[in-house]
Amino acid sequence: MKVAMPHMGHIYVPLRTLFREVGVEMVVPPLNSRRTLTLGAKHSPEFVCIPFKLTLGNFIEALEMGADTLVMAAGPGLCRFGYYAKIQERILRDQGYHFEMVTTELFESKLMGVANLVKRLSNGAPTQKVLAAIRFGLAKLGTLDELERVLHQVRATEAEKGSADQVFQQALAAIDGADSRAALKEIKNRYLMKLQQVERDGETEPVVVGITGEFYVVLEPFSNMDLERELGRLGAEVRRTTFVSEWMKFSLFLNAFGLSEKDRIHQAAAPYLRRDVGGDGWESVGDIILHSHDYDGLIHVAPFTCGPEIIAQNIFPAIKTRIPVLTVICDEQMGRAGMLTRLEAFVELLRRRRARKGLAVAALVP
Ligand code: SF4
Repeated sequence: MKVAMPHMGHIYVPLRTLFREVGVEMVVPPLNSRRTLTLGAKHSPEFVCIPFKLTLGNFIEALEMGADTLVMAAGPGLCRFGYYAKIQERILRDQGYHFEMVTTELFESKLMGVANLVKRLSNGAPTQKVLAAIRFGLAKLGTLDELERVLHQVRATEAEKGSADQVFQQALAAIDGADSRAALKEIKNRYLMKLQQVERDGETEPVVVGITGEFYVVLEPFSNMDLERELGRLGAEVRRTTFVSEWMKFSLFLNAFGLSEKDRIHQAAAPYLRRDVGGDGWESVGDIILHSHDYDGLIHVAPFTCGPEIIAQNIFPAIKTRIPVLTVICDEQMGRAGMLTRLEAFVELLRRRRARKGLAVAALVP
């Protein structure tokens, strides 16, 4: 059996570990590229969102590499994500591919659902072994997210642009190869130190830009034209609350005990939106209210035709927030030059607002 799953950020690293630990071969398709998107868009319904097109492209590339089992999250929900697996399966069969489609209802079945899925794919590996593999995969995921948070800070003030990313890429490869919890811990400490040691430009005072929006386009750099890296290049420090490790912690464990990471954000959104509108629309509205004092500005990333994010975008102008918001719509028609121009103008606007605020404060001090 050769198992494949779609890409979303660096989630392939913990997944590869998880499957390796239980003796299942995982086919990792090439990272998202123009080819992936072209393949996916060619076979997708025209108005479907970019996560559908890219994940379909991943499946095609994985099948070309010999994958015979495709794994996809599915299940009931308020947006079309719940139907992705069924529709993608039909499209791929129409194209003549032979494979088994395995779906998992993550939201419903939680940790035991994932364990049962891994058990099934591994032809009945012992439960202890499966749970240990999941724990090790989650530890890698947590390590990657911790390093990425530091990367966001360092990028904004590094003296030589790109140095922090080089360290992060080395860390990614080392974490991918780590074969024990002890090795992982050593790698984490080593690369946290290396990131902190990247030479900084002491003159730069970074503006802080929050990122919110639809889960997939926030986390998959190719889908948003790597906007976090571009913001870092422009000297802006990126902050976001969406990380896969956080989401997993609640979805797999804490939600089952009645704890939800979203209560606070939903309460904040309540004056403008009181119910779930599917996807991450409710959270996008809450995010801007909850963090308007932490950020200089907010970038809202939304896939073209995504209903939940269109609702959020239409609510933003009514929100009495003190920070500017820029919505970036992601799809295959998105142009790099136009996106970079908008980012440059946005960061410059935030710098000027901050400088004006500094002057106003200075005028008040006797
Ligand atoms: S939230 Fe939006 S982009 Fe994401 S799957 Fe649903 S409709 Fe598509």
